[in-house]
Amino acid sequence: MDDTVERERLEIDILFVGGGPATLASAIRLVDLCKEKGIEAPAMLVIEKGPEIGEHQLSGAVMNPRAIHELVPNFKEKGFPFHYEVTKDSFLWFTRKRAIRSPITPPQFSNRGNLVISLSDVVKWLAQQAEERQIEIYPGFPASKLLFEGERVIGVQIQDRGIDKDGKLKRVFEAGPEIIAKCVVLGEGPRGSCTKQLLEKLPQLDGPNPQVYATGIKEIWKVKPENHVPGRVIHTMGWPAAPDTFGGSWIYDMKDNMVSIGFVTGLDATNPYSDPHDNMQRFKLHPFLRKLLEGGEIVRYGAKVIPEGGLFSQPRLYAEGVLLVGDSAAFCNGEKLKGVHMALKSGMLAAEALVEALQRDDFSAETLKVVEERYRASWAYKEHRKSRNFHAAWKWVHKMPRYLGWGRQLPFMANVGASIFSGGRGLQKMIKAEKDHTHMKKLSELSPAELALKEKVAYDNKYTFDKVTAVSYAGSRHEVDQPHHLKVADTDICTDRCTEEYGNPCQHFCPADVYEMIDHPEKPDKKQLLIHHENCVHCKTCDIADPYQIITWATPEGGDGPDYTLM
Ligand code: SF4
Repeated sequence: MDDTVERERLEIDILFVGGGPATLASAIRLVDLCKEKGIEAPAMLVIEKGPEIGEHQLSGAVMNPRAIHELVPNFKEKGFPFHYEVTKDSFLWFTRKRAIRSPITPPQFSNRGNLVISLSDVVKWLAQQAEERQIEIYPGFPASKLLFEGERVIGVQIQDRGIDKDGKLKRVFEAGPEIIAKCVVLGEGPRGSCTKQLLEKLPQLDGPNPQVYATGIKEIWKVKPENHVPGRVIHTMGWPAAPDTFGGSWIYDMKDNMVSIGFVTGLDATNPYSDPHDNMQRFKLHPFLRKLLEGGEIVRYGAKVIPEGGLFSQPRLYAEGVLLVGDSAAFCNGEKLKGVHMALKSGMLAAEALVEALQRDDFSAETLKVVEERYRASWAYKEHRKSRNFHAAWKWVHKMPRYLGWGRQLPFMANVGASIFSGGRGLQKMIKAEKDHTHMKKLSELSPAELALKEKVAYDNKYTFDKVTAVSYAGSRHEVDQPHHLKVADTDICTDRCTEEYGNPCQHFCPADVYEMIDHPEKPDKKQLLIHHENCVHCKTCDIADPYQIITWATPEGGDGPDYTLM
């Protein structure tokens, strides 16, 4: 797109990028703090890429209510949407045929008193609270580019609309406006486009460890009434994850005989055939799940990456004219599989920094850095410290000999145990992590058993679904006649190197069948990449897991993407 195109310019005091729990909590808290201090609330705008607020929100989800209590103390009276308060929780170890119940629920999986929620519904409710405070929310506004003046963030550019698949302007072309703000709060969720641009331009903001991720696949099922247990929360580990692949599952009962089930697969898997969608489908073949789902039907499907790295993977929370909140700043407790409460808290901490900046009319890094002090004094920091070395210890599993099977996980388990008794330290002061894709092995390094993972489940499309059928339950829709929003920098690598070296893992790690290798029209015996961008469910896995790091997830036209209602 020609950079000389004329764009409308909007000006605002505070711009929140992403309409999620962190940004909405931040905007709500900022208005409340201004009222408490008797200062005029700034002009605020929340922009969101989804067509409606909440439609791109997906989480398990069991929420610790601590932060919502602080944000809206009478949240229950105000109709906060939740399904059940958790009354029973359990932890199971899965083998292929058996489910072995732990006699005690490990503290990481203890959930009594927490709330089973739909994040999509919670975000819609937060948006109502924000609108009651006269905060403007613009859905269908994807921020495609972060705008800088030197190293200072000054705003964002919204994605253009009306460009055809060959890059030509259609009659309905609309240039995305620039939104200029005194301060930009980035809360785009995990692996946000603007956050990525910020961290590429200012690598000094990176934490001591790189961010590491897992992909969570979620399905909602309507089950027979006798299989529905209100207030029940179950977590599992073990099968069907491979012994050296980080993974586990959840089962949460929702209202109306619905159950949220999900499987999480680490993107630091060594096997290029590791397939988060296939793991989810295999999981449903376990006798425990077959019994739960027997006679039921699938209602929804979706996927999203989870920032698992914890405290040492958090970037600095501020720079000139910008604050980072929520999953964009790794506010997620990967050990407990919980991030909503931390996202809310991070937004509230950002609001405290913004009030100080407003009072000084100074949004420099020097003023905004107060957010780090507030964070370090908060319960969110203490919680993050308690699991600071959780995920990084998984790399030791990769180094254990294959013949040990599930015994390969012993050093990881030992670190989890040691962390409980050492306030989160575990076996080392700081376990160094590496980027997820660096763990992927070449096909030539795989054992026959590992190569066999290429074979997928025989999907019956009743209980287990191929990717295209599953995507139909995600409600994903994209204008077909637009440039791909999956930018592959060099497709010759896919054809000439990746097929041989890694077997084109994009076909496996993408849960929506976006990437397909088809016969090459000019090179006999070679394949070329075909991108079905319209299937994309915006999980961001490809942007992270590609071994050559040549895939960039960019924003499609505003409003395009999945429909995560209920999720
Ligand atoms: Fe996820 Fe990328 Fe596939 Fe879209 S194309 S569904 S972001 S892996």
